[in-house]
Amino acid sequence: MQYEAVIGLEIHAQLLTDTKIFCGCSTEFGSEPNTQTCPVCTGMPGVLPVMNSKAVEYVVRTGLALNCEISSHSRFARKNYFYPDLPKGYQISQFELPLCEGGYVEIPGNGSNRRISLTRIHLEEDAGKNIHEGSASDSFVDLNRAGVPLMEIVSEPDIRTAKEASDFMKKLRTIVRYINVSDGNMEQGSLRCDANVSVRPEGMKELGVKTEIKNMNSFRFIEKALDYEIKRQIKVLQEGGRIVQETRLWNSEKGITESMRSKEEAHDYRYFPDPDLVPIEFDTSWIDEIRTHMTELPDVKKKRFMNEWDISEQDAELLASERSTAEWFEETVQLGADPKAACNWIKGDFMKLLHEDNILIVESRIKPLNLVKMLGLIDKGTISGKIAKTVFEEMYKTGKKAGIIVEEKGLLQMSDESGIESIIDDILADNSDAVEKFKAGENKLMGFFVGQVMKETKGKANPKIVNEILRKKLG
Ligand code: ADP
Ligand code: ZN
Ligand code: MG
Repeated sequence: MQYEAVIGLEIHAQLLTDTKIFCGCSTEFGSEPNTQTCPVCTGMPGVLPVMNSKAVEYVVRTGLALNCEISSHSRFARKNYFYPDLPKGYQISQFELPLCEGGYVEIPGNGSNRRISLTRIHLEEDAGKNIHEGSASDSFVDLNRAGVPLMEIVSEPDIRTAKEASDFMKKLRTIVRYINVSDGNMEQGSLRCDANVSVRPEGMKELGVKTEIKNMNSFRFIEKALDYEIKRQIKVLQEGGRIVQETRLWNSEKGITESMRSKEEAHDYRYFPDPDLVPIEFDTSWIDEIRTHMTELPDVKKKRFMNEWDISEQDAELLASERSTAEWFEETVQLGADPKAACNWIKGDFMKLLHEDNILIVESRIKPLNLVKMLGLIDKGTISGKIAKTVFEEMYKTGKKAGIIVEEKGLLQMSDESGIESIIDDILADNSDAVEKFKAGENKLMGFFVGQVMKETKGKANPKIVNEILRKKLG
């Protein structure tokens, strides 16, 4: 029997507000434990939460970007459970009235895009963090993260493979970064995901019993954990067993998922509306205003690069997948660069260097105008494409302008015909065997001769002139 996997994701993204969701404490990451706390986020008795409207705005912005219906009426609920990192004994979240419902995300499919539907997006507060390092007998609690605004994006069980799950996550990460609502930093935990997964015989409509894999914070883990879990479930069914509904954890050392708690041990969260917070109400004109200020989304940008500038789909995808890269590229074109030439430099030499240093394009020393000027030097024949690679690397290292590098390093292209001709004469005289073979019909030796000239001139000879003279002499 053939089985198919069914996956639904619950994704948590920390929002980029400066302050927490119900108090004025800073949300900055990486400070000393418990230095960003107050009576509200430490759950002292008698305090009252005050909602940060920026957090609501960010969720609305996300909802618009993900094609959701925005509810102009929603409210907060208390989700009750007991854990040391949750000082109030409940988390303020949303239950029956979330901020956004429906919507979808498009991921690459077979030939065309595939739509993964969303169930909802809601707003909630993050919990603190337990720390088990530093002492053999004690654990510690850091409440800096308690009360940081989180949005939870829940997908329908529309995902079918581990790869689709990570594609979905990648797309969401790109979008939340584009619209500036979350930094999407998975290593620091500002973007993390729980994956619900079941399997069923192909063709069956009903859903199988699912397990939930908690807290995955890298694309690689998501793929590995889901691949493992799908295989595990199929094996259990093939051997006549049954899937137990449970929460599992990915053990990256062993490369397996392990049971954490079964359904019997699952929490009853006793949700009820939070009496300390009034319902959220806003005019639809506010939604319109947020929509008006929305940035161009990655898929739209990608299409525009393809249609207006004739960039290939693959390259357009690469350029559009990070907003700062896309904008950097757009700026070079606005400044007069040929889009394809700029694209080739960005995706080739530039990305290689950026990757080595693990930085974004905007963090590099090369500014769009520097690349434009360098492309101009190539066009004018001042430098060859080959020399440009050296110039580019130097621009990257030092931030100097292309023209200055060319001057300082004496990289001007040789376009003086008589100079090149005398070099060619020497080379032909030294390689009379090859000349004979060429004349006998071995045309590919042309490349050899050009190569010799370039070697002799350290790449500075103008290739067009070299080719012309060689053809004349060997003709
Ligand atoms: P729970 O009650 O366990 O929280 P929900 O119905 O709220 O489950 O769904 C949580 C997530 O699990 C959603 O992303 C949903 O799409 C997904 N999901 C629900 N049922 C299944 C299933 N049988 N197989 C895979 N995913 C599922
Ligand atoms: Zn606080
Ligand atoms: Mg649920």
